[in-house]
Amino acid sequence: HPTLSKASRLIREVPDFPEPGVLFRDISPLLADGEALSTVVTALGEGHEFDVVAGVEARGFLVGAAVAQAYGTGVVGLRKPGKLPEVADRIDYALEYGTASLELAADTISAGQRVLVVDDVLATGGTLNAACELLGRAGAKVSAAAVVLELTALGGRDRVLGADVHALLAV
Ligand code: 5GP
Repeated sequence: HPTLSKASRLIREVPDFPEPGVLFRDISPLLADGEALSTVVTALGEGHEFDVVAGVEARGFLVGAAVAQAYGTGVVGLRKPGKLPEVADRIDYALEYGTASLELAADTISAGQRVLVVDDVLATGGTLNAACELLGRAGAKVSAAAVVLELTALGGRDRVLGADVHALLAV
């Protein structure tokens, strides 16, 4: 896909962020480019049937809201703890170092809704797996988990149990 490969050239590699030894992929320049954003947003929603988009904090909010708008659905943010005034449910999950949590706002997802989960990067898969589990507990049917970039060496795809993973780009 020529436009996608053009978009991929706007992803920056940042060594030693957020800690020494980690090669961080920064999609900020891609999101800042109108043509690249449009290509990525269309491709993320393509081939899936969904009633609502769930974006994972924080870069998943940017992409997720755009996908929702492009496909005429609503959007729900899966948030880090302490941000939401009313929480429907919360999931705690293990990271490589330590733990993290995601919360779902009250009165957002109803049972039987088909949800497209969106994030920027799939790394170890812990975050996307937690997102799918949280939505499943709310009675949603997760259509797919769609990401812009998959870091294949980390094997994260196999950790996402609740949904098929769809990555636009892979390194
Ligand atoms: P996980 O390891 O759970 O798959 O990724 C954790 C979270 O950190 C995800 O929301 C993902 O977007 C973010 N993340 C991990 N590594 C990178 C990276 O290299 N670049 C970006 N942009 N996000 C990352």
